[in-house]
Amino acid sequence: MNSSPNDMKPHYEGSTLSKFIVRTIILAVISLTKGEIVQQPRSKFLKVQCLDCENEQIIFGSVSTEVKCLKCDKVLAKPRGGKAKLMPIARELEQFS
Ligand SMILES: [Zn+2]
Repeated sequence: MNSSPNDMKPHYEGSTLSKFIVRTIILAVISLTKGEIVQQPRSKFLKVQCLDCENEQIIFGSVSTEVKCLKCDKVLAKPRGGKAKLMPIARELEQFS
């Protein structure tokens, strides 16, 4: 065994520093995300029509997963920045608050 406390120290400091950097980045991302959510208007419901099969359905204005047409299973909206982004195949008919 020839490891001394002096050999261990730089390694320990290095890993602490990278943990600190990672934490700082995570915190920055969280605060950015929070800022984005705060700036979003209140969640709305959208009435959309699928242009493929003409099915009408109501979707949530802020989705976290893809929204598919209940009839033909085509993707009508995708989550983007906490809001539902309508696909070209979906037409917005109405908005509800
Ligand atoms: Zn459809």
